[in-house]
Amino acid sequence: MGINGKILVFVDLPGGELDETGRGLLSYAARLAGTLDVPWGVAVAVAPDSAQLAGFGAYGTPAITCMETGKALLDTPALLGKHLAAMAVDELASVIILPHNDLGASLAPVVAHALDAAIMTELATVRQSADGVRISRNALGVRIAETRLWDRTRPLVATLPLRAMSQVLLATVRPSSPAVATWRPAAPISGPTTAVTGRIPPDPQTVDLTEAEVIFSAGKGCDPATFDQLKELCKLLNVSFGVTRPVYDLGWTGFERMVGQTGRTVTPRLYVAMGISGSMHHVGGIKDSRRIVAINNDSKAPIFPNCDEGFVSDLKELLPRLLDQVKARVGGAA
Ligand SMILES: Cc1cc2nc3c(=O)[nH]c(=O)nc-3n(C[C@H](O)[C@H](O)[C@H](O)COP(=O)(O)OP(=O)(O)OC[C@H]3O[C@@H](n4cnc5c(N)ncnc54)[C@H](O)[C@@H]3O)c2cc1C
Repeated sequence: MGINGKILVFVDLPGGELDETGRGLLSYAARLAGTLDVPWGVAVAVAPDSAQLAGFGAYGTPAITCMETGKALLDTPALLGKHLAAMAVDELASVIILPHNDLGASLAPVVAHALDAAIMTELATVRQSADGVRISRNALGVRIAETRLWDRTRPLVATLPLRAMSQVLLATVRPSSPAVATWRPAAPISGPTTAVTGRIPPDPQTVDLTEAEVIFSAGKGCDPATFDQLKELCKLLNVSFGVTRPVYDLGWTGFERMVGQTGRTVTPRLYVAMGISGSMHHVGGIKDSRRIVAINNDSKAPIFPNCDEGFVSDLKELLPRLLDQVKARVGGAA
């Protein structure tokens, strides 16, 4: 393995999508390649389709190496890790980057062990210095920054924390048409392993709101009838349910459902604010949602300048109709 070899970044394509984590990894790898002045490439377990390839190309990905049997290995992380290590050797990689998610955190120790490599979990920064490469991470939660010296005598396996990922496209990065190659091990790789036999998806009704994908929230503009209708709607649509502080103060929900400055800070794909005025104490807790939709009967409500889509509507009229339509589609009561 070339110690000044390339950076190999492992990109998972969950649900067949180059998601934010994947784009964050590509952005990081492109920057790190500049810092270390080495080439970089991508390892994938499943061959990307043309839409995914375009996504890789947008980040200037030079080359993608796809494991021939990778799809079958996704549920056996220990074996997948051994394959990734063997691929890293064949690719002359000296830095292997993984996301610090369930899969990446399972793979990293296996790859590091197989390569007798240095390992750095939740890598933060990388800096060249006269005596080697200074790599740092946050330790004890994020309370202290720890710096280590990597002397480049052995490969480095590093995981990247998802919270620190940025999908920024560097101005210096030119879009590419990545070369795709299929890789298979020179000799069969085996070993004791455990296999994932099942995964239980989170229940949106009970999942912590900070982890929720879609949240419909009730504000003081909901009366007891519309509040119950909204809760029923959430069950039918299988989405999470939140409230503002005045609704929590009425005793209609537990504190864990309250969103905002004193309540949960949420980052769902979609946040629907129903009968919520949009005070700064509430908006502060939802502003990083990917999309905010607001429904309020007052066209001047402060929530409107803070949302992506706004509808001026009376919930007393809207919710029963919405509920009927959803019931007709999904068939029956919650
Ligand atoms: C230190 C501090 C911390 C706080 N922390 C939080 C927090 O974490 N979370 C939080 O939510 N609040 C918090 N608050 C309270 C916050 O300031 C607001 O008072 C609160 O967010 C307002 O909630 P609301 O939008 O439900 O109610 P309101 O401000 O009363 O708004 C109700 C809205 O419903 C609309 N409406 C009424 N009837 C209908 C109808 N039939 N159809 C459609 N729309 C209708 C009205 O036009 C209005 O805009 C905090 C306050 C303080 C001082």
